[in-house]
Amino acid sequence: MILSNYISGEWKHGKGEGIPLIDPVNGEHLAHASSDGLDLAQALEFSRERGTRGLQRLTYLQRAELLSKIAEVLTGHRDDYYEICLRNMGATKGDAAFDVDGAIYTLKQYANAGQTLHGQTMKDGARVPLSRTGVFQAQHFLKPLEGVAVLINAFNFPAWGLWEKAAPAFLSGVAVFVKPATPTAWLAQKMIEDVVKAGILPDGALSIICGAPGDLLEHVTAHDVISFTGSAATASKVKTHPAVLTHSVRVNIEADSLNSAILGADPPGTQPFGLLVKEVVKEMTQKAGQKCTAIRRILAPRKSLDQISEASATALAAIPVGNPRNSAVKCGPLVNKAQQKSVIDDIVQLKRECTVIFGGDDGFQPVDADSASSCFIQPTLLRCDDPLRARLVHEIEVFGPVATIMPYDTVEEAVELARRGHGSLVASIYSDDAKFKQEVTRGLATTHGRIMVVDSSVGTQHTGHGNVMPSCLHGGPGRAGGGEELGGLRALELYHRRFVVQGPPELLNELCENTTDISALHG
Ligand code: NAP
Repeated sequence: MILSNYISGEWKHGKGEGIPLIDPVNGEHLAHASSDGLDLAQALEFSRERGTRGLQRLTYLQRAELLSKIAEVLTGHRDDYYEICLRNMGATKGDAAFDVDGAIYTLKQYANAGQTLHGQTMKDGARVPLSRTGVFQAQHFLKPLEGVAVLINAFNFPAWGLWEKAAPAFLSGVAVFVKPATPTAWLAQKMIEDVVKAGILPDGALSIICGAPGDLLEHVTAHDVISFTGSAATASKVKTHPAVLTHSVRVNIEADSLNSAILGADPPGTQPFGLLVKEVVKEMTQKAGQKCTAIRRILAPRKSLDQISEASATALAAIPVGNPRNSAVKCGPLVNKAQQKSVIDDIVQLKRECTVIFGGDDGFQPVDADSASSCFIQPTLLRCDDPLRARLVHEIEVFGPVATIMPYDTVEEAVELARRGHGSLVASIYSDDAKFKQEVTRGLATTHGRIMVVDSSVGTQHTGHGNVMPSCLHGGPGRAGGGEELGGLRALELYHRRFVVQGPPELLNELCENTTDISALHG
């Protein structure tokens, strides 16, 4: 099968054989992707001229209705998507749900949030007085971008990664041009095929290229926005692309992250201790640890380290790893041989500073799969006893089922260690100690996009360390890319330009007619 590209309102094959997509459980070639030879300059122009203009003839409310219809179409094809997740990613049912149902849920959330928006422009905040008598005032507004949203995505969330960006872009009235990561492009391509067939969106509102990015970035303009998710290394190429620099193209980056889970002085037998262990094991094995938000470092008081290690290792030993076609399996493979090799190499690096508590077995045999042709990694828990002097554990993001436990002696040290990730997407804190929760939260505020605090009063009702809620901010500073996504209607700002009008109040009153104040909607 060749994955077709959808650009300029037509399905088109790229030239050549293309790049193979495989089944990571048995190595079978499933499809090929090629974007070679496509006229991407013309395709982007088509998206701007037909897609964005078509969307902007509608109101926010009408576009919210489009999101509901997209969610409906995707829901109708859920079984197909689960099958693709299984074949192209070796996803368990739970892993597929996390991506596919997470995408549909996010679309529905934006469809609901859009019900509160009127008109075609938004105002932002209150009137600003600029003169003594009030005859000269200012009002800030937000107007949708005139260009196209170029969405470049990572391989690990082909569904959620696409729709969590596309939902706020469409609600804003901006056409979407998707470049999924090639190894898992099939799912994104199939979803787009289904939405295109359903005839919901104006021509040019939704396009996709499967395969290499080619000269895509050479044709971006000042009116466009690039929303990128992937490694810090690729992010740096995107940000410094000459066309991006020349035209000051807006770029949002979601990149690597060495997220932490931090336990207070809560001993075994307490709820925080048990909840941390449960979360660590879930984060290591869900999607085989291929999540940007997964727990990579576990920080615990030195005296609890042995008990945390033991409890986590026991829980990991009970997780069957292998072919997800076997319903007992709870942890699948990595996406391909390149990722498997990268994780093996990274573990070798980390072993220079760590000992192995669980996993790391060279003779590891996955359930119902051949270890030679498949892409499995045994969940591996490491321990670093001197994390203040260590460097690699705070620098290498092992993108697989791997995490490192490390001790701290004081609260300040716990904060210092978590901050050594140089900017992270998320940290989670587990404790019933009020002072500890406050100090750590305050200490991490400027280096983490999201901080999740769990104590006995929250218990199992928390939404999860690695789970990104559409109503809450996603993104982190520094190494995590410095981007911001989601956060409810805050996400729409990326797809709008803010401007201020200074003038007589009568004009401002007229301009404010049928607008919604976005600042009042930030719940
Ligand atoms: P990647 O290799 O950096 O690729 C990301 C995307 O960029 C892919 O679509 C890739 O296309 C494309 N790309 C590669 N070179 C490019 C270039 N020169 N110009 C434009 N686009 C280019 O990342 P990945 O391996 O797919 O994903 C894993 C990484 O993503 C991990 O580091 C993970 O932490 C991060 N991630 C972050 C988040 C977040 O929200 N912060 C979420 C998920 C994943 P090809 O596939 O065709 O090369």
